[in-house]
Amino acid sequence: MNLLEYQGKELFAKQGMPVPQGIVATTPEEVEAAARTIGGRVVVKAQVQAGGRGKAGGVKLAGTPEEAREVGSRILGMQIKGLTVEKVLVEPALDIKTEYYAGIVNDRKSKRFVLMLSAMGGVDIEEVAVTDPDKIVKIALDPAFGAPDYLLRQAVYDAGYDPASHKAIIPVLRQLYAASQANDAMLVEINPLVVTGDGKVIVADAKVSIDDSALYRHPELAGYREESFDNDMDRQAAEQGLTYVHLGGSVGIIGNGAGLVMQTLDVVNANGLKPANFLDIGGGAQAAQVSKALNMVLSDPEVKAVIFNIFGGITRADEVARGMLSVQEQMTIPVPVVVRLFGTQEEAGRKLLEGSHFIPVDNVQDAAQRVKELVESRK
Ligand code: GDP
Ligand code: MN
Repeated sequence: MNLLEYQGKELFAKQGMPVPQGIVATTPEEVEAAARTIGGRVVVKAQVQAGGRGKAGGVKLAGTPEEAREVGSRILGMQIKGLTVEKVLVEPALDIKTEYYAGIVNDRKSKRFVLMLSAMGGVDIEEVAVTDPDKIVKIALDPAFGAPDYLLRQAVYDAGYDPASHKAIIPVLRQLYAASQANDAMLVEINPLVVTGDGKVIVADAKVSIDDSALYRHPELAGYREESFDNDMDRQAAEQGLTYVHLGGSVGIIGNGAGLVMQTLDVVNANGLKPANFLDIGGGAQAAQVSKALNMVLSDPEVKAVIFNIFGGITRADEVARGMLSVQEQMTIPVPVVVRLFGTQEEAGRKLLEGSHFIPVDNVQDAAQRVKELVESRK
């Protein structure tokens, strides 16, 4: 589960880390009021599950409350990497002297939490890893010892942090480690970790990802769930109780059983098409579930065709067919839908679909082929 910046900062603040005193706002009026409360220059920051908000125009400074309102009205509602900005974080602006990077990631290879530091902060760390890999210091932390000060001292020295800031930064790194452990985080990241003109150390950004398998131990984080999706489609799907993953291609995929859906994705890929999504309607799905799934996939504007791949085991093919037909009754389906139905009640299911919008095929390969022809003939 990925957290928004302000949520990550809340967890950091609990460890005593120096985060700015920010206020979350959802309307330009609230942004103005927040700026007035804070006083002086403020920074208004888009709260979405995406990096590079600064470059995308989602981080802006404002000198007065009126200007903050104006900046807020521009950032709220804007799209960043396909996500609509619904919240902003208003914070006192910083007098930035230096920007560092600091992160702790759960590393599968070393089976340790790995501390990563770089003096090249404020820029995309993945980019630094490619262009200047030797500018990132990595230290695998022994779980028995955690992040002892002598290790942190060596690390900030090796990373080339300004010696004048070592003393102030080491406790922050210690707290960062504590935050990762207390919350079962796969990743905790500060980029930039700012040193101000007057030598203060400030956590200016926060990226936190919580291990989903550990969420049961953290009922206190449940409130963050709703905002943890990195695209609007995934969020809508979760709200509707669908097992859906947005993939960004043009062929909508619906099937029952994760394995069957993944096989369908593979066949679609092998035919040179890009799946729009993964969607498993599960075993024993009823008509209502089927129509919900089809509506979900059709709401994706990128979808040019849909493949249904249904194996009738405990799921009845006629029940699935009824779900599809109910969608056809409610709306004009704008794209071709190819259907492979087999197993329990397949005859009844196919009969129901006769003369409908839905195009029957015999197997997945045929489904992919058919979709390809249909999409190409529509160009
Ligand atoms: P990101 O682009 O999504 O990583 O968002 P950041 O919070 O890291 O902000 C992007 C950049 O905005 C930072 O690297 C700073 O260089 C710049 N920036 C300028 N003034 C401020 C300020 O007062 N506060 C913060 N947080 N960032 C600022
Ligand atoms: Mn950042």
